[in-house]
Amino acid sequence: MTDDGAFTYNGGKVEPGDVQNVRYGISETYLGDPIRIPVTIINGERDGPTVFLSAAAHGDELNGIEVVREVAFEWDLTDLAGTLICMPVLNVPGFLFQQRYLPIYDRDLNRSFPGSEESTSAKRMAHRIFENFVEPCDYGLDFHTSTRGRTNMIHVRADMTRPDTARLANAFGVNVVIDSDGPEGTLRREATDAGVPTITIEMGEAHRFERRLIDEALGGVESVFAEYGLHDESTVRWPGWRTIITGDKEKTWIRADVGGIVDMHFERGALVHEGDRVCTITNPFKDDNTVVEAPFTGLLVGVLENPVVYPGNPLCHLVELGGPTLRVVEREQSPGAEGRT
Ligand SMILES: [Zn+2]
Repeated sequence: MTDDGAFTYNGGKVEPGDVQNVRYGISETYLGDPIRIPVTIINGERDGPTVFLSAAAHGDELNGIEVVREVAFEWDLTDLAGTLICMPVLNVPGFLFQQRYLPIYDRDLNRSFPGSEESTSAKRMAHRIFENFVEPCDYGLDFHTSTRGRTNMIHVRADMTRPDTARLANAFGVNVVIDSDGPEGTLRREATDAGVPTITIEMGEAHRFERRLIDEALGGVESVFAEYGLHDESTVRWPGWRTIITGDKEKTWIRADVGGIVDMHFERGALVHEGDRVCTITNPFKDDNTVVEAPFTGLLVGVLENPVVYPGNPLCHLVELGGPTLRVVEREQSPGAEGRT
C-alpha cells in the first residue's frame, strides 16, 4: 500500500474507494498468447488491513472459487475498511483442463511458491502472483478441497505456533484446526514465512460445488472480517466447539491393507468410537470381507468417495477426540440433534 492508501501492483494502481477487475498475465501459452488470472481488487474508502482470498491453486478444486466470487461480487462492501485481493482461480491452465496440477510437466503450483523469475514455468507463474498480490497483503485465506476421489469436512490448516496465524485460524470459526506449518512451496507456508499470516481452508470434494460448505466458508470469511475490523456489521463466530490437532498422534490416515472395493459406513464429519466398523473392503470373488475398525475414538475429517483401493491407499482421515470436546460432539451427533456432517 502507498501512503495515499492506494494498492499498487506491477502495471496498475487501485485508489481507495475503487474496484478493479484485472486479468493479470502470469505466463504464455505455446502459441505465445497470455495466460491470465482473474484478480478483483477492492480498495475500501476506509483504512484497514489488506487481505487476499485465493482458490483453485489446484485446478480441479472448485468450492473455493464460489466463495471468493461471492465475496467479491455479491457482498455489500461499501463500508469496507481495508483492501481485498480476490483471486478465484490461481491455476488457470489446470482449471481449464479440470486437473489438479499445471498441465505443463504436471507441476504443482502449490509447491512452487514464492516462485522465482528465472526458474521453471511453474515458479515463474508463482512469482508473478506472489510478488504482486500476496506479499503486499497483511493476511491471506487460501481455499482448497480434498484430492479427487476423497472428501473433507470443512477445516482449517494453520501454523498454530505463530500467534498471528493462530488468531486468523481461530477467527475463521470452524470446529477443526490442523496445526502444521505446511509443506515447503505451498502458498500458505511461504506467505506466512514472508510475513503474511495465511491459512488454508479445506472443504469438500474436487470437481464439485457444495452449497452448504460454501455457505459455511462464507460465514468464516465474515467472521475473519469482523476480527480484523474490515466489516462493521459482522461478528466473530464461535463454532460451538473447537479441536486443534497437533502432532502425528492425534491424526491418522487409516490405510487399506487389502485391495478391493470399499463400503464406507460413515460420512465425513461423523464421530466414530473405538472399535466401530468404519468400512468394509470387499472384492468380486471374496466371501471373507475385510472389516476396518476405528483404532480410537475420533472424528472422520476426511473419507474416501471413489470406493476403490490398492493396499496402502487411504480410507479415511480420523482425528482423536476426547474430554469435554468429545461430550459436546456426542451430544451434537446424538439422534434428534442436528448433525454437522
Ligand atoms: Zn488443494
